[in-house]
Amino acid sequence: MAFKKVRAKKKFCIFCKNKNAVIDYKDVETLKKFIAPNGKISPRRATGACAKHQREVAQAIKRARYMALLPYIAD
Ligand SMILES: [Zn+2]
Repeated sequence: MAFKKVRAKKKFCIFCKNKNAVIDYKDVETLKKFIAPNGKISPRRATGACAKHQREVAQAIKRARYMALLPYIAD
């Protein structure tokens, strides 16, 4: 019985892949990719980011929220 889990192969962490990519709380466009439509930070399994970068992204998002660049909750 060939049972395959149907799950899109997670792409490589974009920050590891792109050495020039910097995680900056002012870079809202990049951060938005890590935020679910409801405004929450997407889990790592959804973003494909590695633990290190996911942590940095989460930190940047929190900072961006504090600076009112990103919403805490999107309606
Ligand atoms: Zn990474």
